[in-house]
Amino acid sequence: RANRAFHPDDSVIDVAGVKIGGRQMQVIAGPCSVETREQIIGVAKSVKMAGAHLMRGGAFKPRTSPYSFQGMGMPGLELLKEAKAETGLPIVTEIMSADVLDKFVEDVDLIQVGARNMQNYSLLKELGKTKKPILLKRGLAATVQEWIMSAEYIMAEGNTNVILCERGIRTYETYTRNTLDLSAVCAAKKLSHLPVIVDPSHAAGLWWMVPALAKAAVAVGADGLIIEVHNDPEKALCDGAQSLKPERFAELMGELKGIARII
Ligand code: PEP
Ligand code: MN
Repeated sequence: RANRAFHPDDSVIDVAGVKIGGRQMQVIAGPCSVETREQIIGVAKSVKMAGAHLMRGGAFKPRTSPYSFQGMGMPGLELLKEAKAETGLPIVTEIMSADVLDKFVEDVDLIQVGARNMQNYSLLKELGKTKKPILLKRGLAATVQEWIMSAEYIMAEGNTNVILCERGIRTYETYTRNTLDLSAVCAAKKLSHLPVIVDPSHAAGLWWMVPALAKAAVAVGADGLIIEVHNDPEKALCDGAQSLKPERFAELMGELKGIARII
């Protein structure tokens, strides 16, 4: 069960040897989407050098418009494997349909369920039948209770390896892409024992705001961060406006160490 009453201590989830939970501050970084071999391997190397613990990159993208880049699909997953072979960083990537589950179980280290699929209960049940770590993003307009109930769908099938991710919610504000709900991190950690990480990139939608929100997330007790980094944000096929350049990401990693020391 996700409820802390059943499990007073913080859960720590082992993702290919990287322990997430218990406020150890693990950082996932990489582009929104895998675009080319050079791009994903280049970004993976630079985030590894900066101290990231896992890498992200979408192969299957849930875009708002069907006419936008939908991701490379399976060839994108193959490129992620090449980037892992080069850097040793575990792979985090989004699943959109259970059709590809066998392949994901084999090749992906942390399977992401995107905000748009948080209440895709049949997908959650299928993921629950595996033992794979799952990164469950909060839905665009989901309450904390609904989000935890979605974690429960996975756990009820026997998979307790669930990590929650706050990525901003829809509010009346339009200046930012979403509104980062840091109080939800506190609430989710009080109500459940699961690790909670924060995605400041999708919350802000603006790259320059990402470092400040990332530091705030650490200060409220998040167990980690997932941050979009692109080698050439102006030309990114997806989410360039919210992506940090590798140099800025490296600088942020240094700043985060300072915050982690204080709290
Ligand atoms: C993503 O991580 O690129 C993504 C699509 O995130 P979300 O599901 O939070 O919108
Ligand atoms: Mn994105």
